[in-house]
Amino acid sequence: MNTHHDGMNRRRFLAACSAGLGAGLLSRFAAATPETPAQPNIILFLVDDMGWQDTSVPFWTEETLFNRHFRTPNMERLANRGIRFTNAYAHTVCSPTRTSLMTGWSPARHRVTNWTLNPDEDTSRGWAPRDWNMRGLQADEVNMAQLLQEAGYFTIHCGKAHWGARGTSGEDPLRLGFDVNIAGHAGGAPGSYQGKDNFGNEENGTRRLPWGVPGLEKYHGKDIDLSDALTKEALAAVDHAVAAEKPFYLYMSHYAVHTPIQPHNRFVDNYKGRTYPDTDINIPPVEARYASMVEGMDASLGALLDKVEALGVAESTLVVFTSDNGGLSAHGRCTTPYNTGLNTHNRPLHAGKGSAYEGGTRVPFIAAWAKPAPTNALQAQLPIKAQAVSAQPLISEDLFPTLLGIGGALDQVPITHTVDGYDLRPYFTQEASDMERPLYFHYPHTWGPEGPGYEPHSAMRLGDWKVIYFYQPQRWELYNLADDIGESHNRAAEEPERLAQMAQKLRRDLVNMGAQWPVNDETDEESPMRLPQDAVINAIH
Ligand code: CA
Repeated sequence: MNTHHDGMNRRRFLAACSAGLGAGLLSRFAAATPETPAQPNIILFLVDDMGWQDTSVPFWTEETLFNRHFRTPNMERLANRGIRFTNAYAHTVCSPTRTSLMTGWSPARHRVTNWTLNPDEDTSRGWAPRDWNMRGLQADEVNMAQLLQEAGYFTIHCGKAHWGARGTSGEDPLRLGFDVNIAGHAGGAPGSYQGKDNFGNEENGTRRLPWGVPGLEKYHGKDIDLSDALTKEALAAVDHAVAAEKPFYLYMSHYAVHTPIQPHNRFVDNYKGRTYPDTDINIPPVEARYASMVEGMDASLGALLDKVEALGVAESTLVVFTSDNGGLSAHGRCTTPYNTGLNTHNRPLHAGKGSAYEGGTRVPFIAAWAKPAPTNALQAQLPIKAQAVSAQPLISEDLFPTLLGIGGALDQVPITHTVDGYDLRPYFTQEASDMERPLYFHYPHTWGPEGPGYEPHSAMRLGDWKVIYFYQPQRWELYNLADDIGESHNRAAEEPERLAQMAQKLRRDLVNMGAQWPVNDETDEESPMRLPQDAVINAIH
């Protein structure tokens, strides 16, 4: 219904949200009675590397064999209480998404375009911009946790941080606006999920860098999974916040289901030695372990929902569930319920984490009050219908204005801080829907694995259409996702005008955001995006 917004229009739109609908919400918050908390609790439940199909909750138009294989009863519980978004996106690897949700910036702007580890180490495996932001998010930059903390929230970081690189200010969540840091540091994967392995640390408990999980020493040597240990600590932090009568922001950022793919012992027997439901295909051991990690993550969600109910704060707690990139499918995985192999673990989506295709970026997304109560004053200000489904496209950086708006802190964003994300509150309440807004993806890096779409790329989705530019070799692809969600039919040669318009818009907007072009690692020359008339249009996918 609305036409698309370019950069300027988007800012006007955000300003309008801020001044109109957003301000309306804020003033209604301000009018709350003394007994009603003025600010809801917020739980952002972020799973690592969870794919769009890694759940029993369907995010497509039909239920798939994956939906029957994975067991996520607490995601079902949450989806039944709120709204599911079927066109939700993250960026294709970890740090870009995590930096975007904290800053509201598209990766082209914050330039943390690949995953980070050491401040002077390029983790790319070939092409990369010359000076992309390898330090990651730093303590002196505007971020969401800091703004929520300043707005009165008790801010809890639990799990994987992966913002600033090792030795920089941004490696410590306590310096990024969190009051509590449970197990977060510069590393983006755990050495081990097993307490018996000290979560990847030395046998005597000292840190093993870079992957040993910090801060969970009391669980070392115990028969406990990392997801369960994180959950116990998060529950205690929530208890503390509620006892102190402070609204809390819990950033529940599981290390699961990132590699290493290890069994969650409480759940692995649900899959080990069995066949995929409705098939005679044996579940391979690695896929049994993977599914157990998904179910362990889901159990954590259930424990949090139980906790806020037990504390009597479920009605004033808003939960957002999502993932930081598409499901891993390029390596380390095995047979699917469709008896297929690599790059099919997000089927019907093509490829997985690291790819330009939908499998790399499309993710589950649910928003719900932990316990629906339409007459609750906070919920009346942000009414979310139970069992709702929305096809509205959205992306990670939208969380910044959205959660700040919900927390009453959106007007605290410095005027000089451009916000690329959109305020999702009108989408949560379905006061707005089907807005044609652009989504930008900018991954000018060689990730590592070879396969479909894993080359350096930029992409844009606008409405049903998605355009992709690959820098190496230079080529444009164009897909209509409404009738080709698997991106099997490249329409670039058939739709030259549409391609030209979308390509020009993508390049212009990337340049305006400050995008960096990749450097050819053989010639050491920068390789800027070339418009279709100057690049090869590869009609064969
Ligand atoms: Ca990830």
